Amino acid sequence: MSKRRLSKHQLARISQNQRNELGFDEAGSADAQTSLEKCNGRIISHYGQHVDVESLLDEQEGRLIRCTQRSNLPKLVTGDLVVWSEDGAYGGVVLALGRRRNVFGRPSPEGQFKAIAANIDSVLIVFASSPKPHVSLIDRYLVAIEQLHLTAVLVLNKLDLLNDEELSDLDNILSSYRKIGYPVYKVSAEDGRGMQELKQALAEQTTILVGQSGVGKSSLLNKLNSGKLADVAPLSETWGQGTHTTTTSSLYHMPGFDLIDSPGIREFGLGHINGQQVFDGFIEFRPLAGSCKFRDCSHRTEPDCAIQTALDAGQISVERVESYFRILDSLNELS
Ligand code: GDP
Ligand code: ZN
Repeated sequence: MSKRRLSKHQLARISQNQRNELGFDEAGSADAQTSLEKCNGRIISHYGQHVDVESLLDEQEGRLIRCTQRSNLPKLVTGDLVVWSEDGAYGGVVLALGRRRNVFGRPSPEGQFKAIAANIDSVLIVFASSPKPHVSLIDRYLVAIEQLHLTAVLVLNKLDLLNDEELSDLDNILSSYRKIGYPVYKVSAEDGRGMQELKQALAEQTTILVGQSGVGKSSLLNKLNSGKLADVAPLSETWGQGTHTTTTSSLYHMPGFDLIDSPGIREFGLGHINGQQVFDGFIEFRPLAGSCKFRDCSHRTEPDCAIQTALDAGQISVERVESYFRILDSLNELS
């Protein structure tokens, strides 16, 4: 039986990390957020008007309550720790939001930050030999993840489909990410290769899955749960007061860790970010910040450019520098 409650370790880590809380608007003001000790539930699914709250009370282990929320609260998201109480025979109401350690989200079409999940430890970027991985897509994810101060983990899935030549090509890509400090795993959701190592990397964490459609995120979710369907399914739709409800994201309990999957963030864009944020999203460039001759160096043609010098010396990779310019250019096209 899967562990349904947050472990003491997880709660302790959340408290400890409160100091690092991020200041996103959608996180609500600090006043609106209550201390974690008071929280008695965690949001595991989010629908249009409702959330499914999992009780964290010892005597109610694993109980799910469909709740509405008090109107003074910011929009609640999967992973939020909350204070809830019974409201009527079956449902409940969320009264307060626990302090968020962090928030994951994506820009809305209007360019505003839309929170999708909270209190997460890492983001798993899944890619595969097919659909063919685009380094610049991986880099876009990384820029967005770095901007949110979250930990990125790269996973190459469908290892079973690769011949030696393809594997060696992809290994080159993977080792360049490993070199700059990202954990990288090679797995197959089909035959289970690499799954133990990945499980160990995810242990005790709440992780969010992202990646192009078709790379195998659903298959991984299933395989990581030993082939059983994820055991916290959203409550039956008919339960939801007769209206059609669409889940925006769900938290699944896996043996020893939690995964959040959301159709809405599987493929996410960068939205309105500036050139400096793109630069900061390339973690191996950071030590070079401020070292170019010109303060407003574009790193393209100027003399004594620290990025070009590091590139010539083989300290940073051509692919990443190209990808950096591609992302910058795409931002310029948007503006
Ligand atoms: P998602 O869109 O990212 O959730 O991808 P799915 O999990 O739906 O997988 C897309 C397709 O790839 C399905 O046909 C899966 O059976 C297949 N697939 C997923 N993982 C693997 C794998 O490790 N090896 C192989 N050969 N096929 C896989
Ligand atoms: Zn420069």
